[in-house]
Amino acid sequence: MNAAPSRTVRTTCPYCAVQCNFDLHTEQGLVTRTTPTRDCPVAHGTVCKKGLSAPGDLRHPDRLTTPLLRRDGQLVPVGWPEALAYVRDALTPLVQSAPQRVGVFGGGSLTNEKTYLLGKFARVALRTPHIDHNGRYGVASASAALNRTFGLDRGLGFPLDDLPRSDLIVLVGANVAETLPPVMQYLKAARNRGGAVYAIDPRVTPTAKVAGRHLAPRPGTDGVLALGLLHLMKQWGRIRPTAPAHGLSDVLWHADDYPPARVAHDCGVPEEELIVLARAYADARTPLILTGRGPEQHTHGTDTVQAWINLAFLTGHVGKQGGGFGTLTGQGNGQGGRQHGQKNDQLPGARSLRDPRHRAQMAAHWNIPEHQLPQPGHSAQELLNACGDPGEGGLDALIVLGSNPVVSAAGAGQITERLKALKHLIVIDFLPSETTQLATLVLPGSMWCEEEGTTTNLEGRVQRRRRAMTVPGAAREDWRILCDLAHAVGRPHGFTYPTFRSLQDDFFLATRGARADYSGLSAERLDRASAQWPVPRADGPDTPLAYAPTYPTPDGLATLHVPRLPAPDLAPRALRLTTGRLSGQYQSGTQTRRNPALKGANAAQIHPDTAHAHGLRAGQSVTLITAHGQATLPVTLTPGIRPDTLFIPPFHWPGAANLLTDPAALDPHSRMPGFKVTPVTLRPAPAI
Ligand code: SF4
Repeated sequence: MNAAPSRTVRTTCPYCAVQCNFDLHTEQGLVTRTTPTRDCPVAHGTVCKKGLSAPGDLRHPDRLTTPLLRRDGQLVPVGWPEALAYVRDALTPLVQSAPQRVGVFGGGSLTNEKTYLLGKFARVALRTPHIDHNGRYGVASASAALNRTFGLDRGLGFPLDDLPRSDLIVLVGANVAETLPPVMQYLKAARNRGGAVYAIDPRVTPTAKVAGRHLAPRPGTDGVLALGLLHLMKQWGRIRPTAPAHGLSDVLWHADDYPPARVAHDCGVPEEELIVLARAYADARTPLILTGRGPEQHTHGTDTVQAWINLAFLTGHVGKQGGGFGTLTGQGNGQGGRQHGQKNDQLPGARSLRDPRHRAQMAAHWNIPEHQLPQPGHSAQELLNACGDPGEGGLDALIVLGSNPVVSAAGAGQITERLKALKHLIVIDFLPSETTQLATLVLPGSMWCEEEGTTTNLEGRVQRRRRAMTVPGAAREDWRILCDLAHAVGRPHGFTYPTFRSLQDDFFLATRGARADYSGLSAERLDRASAQWPVPRADGPDTPLAYAPTYPTPDGLATLHVPRLPAPDLAPRALRLTTGRLSGQYQSGTQTRRNPALKGANAAQIHPDTAHAHGLRAGQSVTLITAHGQATLPVTLTPGIRPDTLFIPPFHWPGAANLLTDPAALDPHSRMPGFKVTPVTLRPAPAI
């Protein structure tokens, strides 16, 4: 037998939304080495330690290589015929008589093609309304605010290369140095050109240290801060709207209620520091506001982001190169993953499942009657909360692809019990996770460089992901598994793709005429250069600047909304728990926790004064207690955090952050749980 020849394959990193390009070098069919490439249009040759170490997991000893079926309480290896027979027997009666009792849960790291196919599988094969994905836990609030304002949701409306044109960058709850490291080069370039960078964060993060200018509002009050800035812009005569829009006067009147003294008091910041930031914003030619998950992951996240969009729009900066407003998508394909049909209310191309015209377009593309398309179902957290509920709206079966909700969902303790109550939990994944441990059937899928596809990065840039090696053992590529499942439940129509390329072409075509139009793309075009969507014509340009008027709304105008923000919790001595990502870990840690090259402490960061008040020392363990659960972690003393705030990593480890968060309360617009602020009490604990 001939050994496989050595190859070099250029592809994209599987982790964050920067989507750095690098070359994978293979020997004997296995990736042995990674080298960054200066040709990368995003990171220009810089990659972080996570990306460099990503190939280390490809043949991890834990890798899932055969289907596992639960028998007598144990997951035991079986062949594909047996696994698919289980799917047939478990799901066929449900999809024929009660499809609404089946749910589908996807992930924001899936390629665009898998995102598309998962949505099609849910709506055309299963005919269930209940599909959503873990992107609900990411950019959903910014996405909702952008959509309702501009009819469009592209995280960054311009290429990162334009960012140094900004003379003031305000990072709101965005710890770029740890979460999107290559973006720091653009911030530094802006500074080198004389610009300033502000970090708004309750902690002195690594990003804040580089920025040099830092404001630390109380967690949950970022929206009030934006209203205070708008109030001052109005007072100083700096209002010059970007374009005619609906809602301008209501928003401006509302800002009258937020004078600096009130804002400083509510946000817990010195009034003079608020004025300094406002003056810098007022004097900047091209200020840019960038939000991260800090202001977004709240039950008032949409209105908080809206307040920052309003500020950028009313001061005339939206749509400028390197200026205005943007949100920094975090998850690997967070942008494409939230556009192509795995959201509960959405069809491919960011179409709306509620829009009769959009429904008709997709029904025609899928060759099904329009009435067969379900209406919007449960959003992500509601879907998980409904698992195992025997009543109306409950689910008997759940199919999970590329997600680990046992760790990443709010109220993880409650969600674990809900998943245990399901009759059937079918999980497609490549490594065991806390969710596969509860499954009735585990199907071994593909990892990033074992499959072809496209992904869309934080600036709306569509790039090719290329296959460098094949799946191990009896694992299958995820897209093939989804087609297998459709056949197993007796709905093969539309799920017989002879090649991956035929699926990809179907996906591109499905977006034709939509807001997120990818129909001008092809693998060949993307081999020549990446492209920023929309790309409606094969022989036409892409769209580097996304937010230029007129907007894709019914009348071409933007609509500003008055932010409805809760009164801040100002109780004396109240402690609030907040969360944030670490540089060495990714999402629920299924890959990165297994990688010895990556580290990170799952510890509670506490201000020394707070620790002293609670009788805690560095390294000691503390039990954090909220209304939703408790968790015990070691203490790290952190002088750079607000004394009324505790910080822990979000969901990189099980048994920690999401045991403490609320699974029930959701943002009314984005359906986002409140990950970023939870009232907490402390109790010293024995060493872990
Ligand atoms: Fe680049 Fe993000 Fe991958 Fe790091 S994790 S190499 S920053 S894409």
